[in-house]
Amino acid sequence: MKKNGNLIVISGPSGVGKSTLVKQAMTELPDLRFSVSCTTRNPREGEIDGVSYYFLSDEEFAAKLENNEFLEHAGVYKHRYGTLKSEVVNRITNGEEVLLDIDSQGAKQIRQAAETDPVIRNAAVFILIAPPSLDVLTDRLTKRNSESAEQLKIRIDGAANELKAFRIYDYLVINDDLETAANDLINILKSIRLRTANIQEELFQ
Ligand code: 5GP
Repeated sequence: MKKNGNLIVISGPSGVGKSTLVKQAMTELPDLRFSVSCTTRNPREGEIDGVSYYFLSDEEFAAKLENNEFLEHAGVYKHRYGTLKSEVVNRITNGEEVLLDIDSQGAKQIRQAAETDPVIRNAAVFILIAPPSLDVLTDRLTKRNSESAEQLKIRIDGAANELKAFRIYDYLVINDDLETAANDLINILKSIRLRTANIQEELFQ
């Protein structure tokens, strides 16, 4: 059966455990392809250019933007982030499933792109990873102790805004217990593969 690949958009505020959940899902579903984003922030320890992100200068990012190379882009915590069309479009039309880990500004832009682009419309599915409550998230971020008080407030305010936009997503995974959340995410991803929207041919004729 000829199918387009799904375009899986996953968002979730900082501190929610999104990277851990995405890693577990990608181990369980090894043919899921991670879209490597561009960013102007510096690499953190252990991050590899071209694997974690494409780490670009402000000028390099601006040049790609000018060249219309981004499917979506946004400013997150003082840095710029963007998804390259080249990471997504050919892959989904070749039947590969692509996962984007992007913020809610980016998710909204993909929703908008879906309105005019039938390939994106049929492929895109939106998943939000959320904490059980804002208090729990505040507690987790405070214990992580990696940000200044000012940074912490910015992240908590950002999280509140991101979570308020939950209706732009199709699915909500609450990360209260990690194992339950990982199972929920994997089950969603498996059932997405059974959708009819991405089937390219007529069947049963
Ligand atoms: P971090 O700097 O911690 O890796 O990511 C910060 C935030 O930027 C996360 O919420 C992540 O989902 C988001 N992000 C990463 N890549 C992209 C992208 O290409 N586009 C958008 N809109 N957000 C991104």
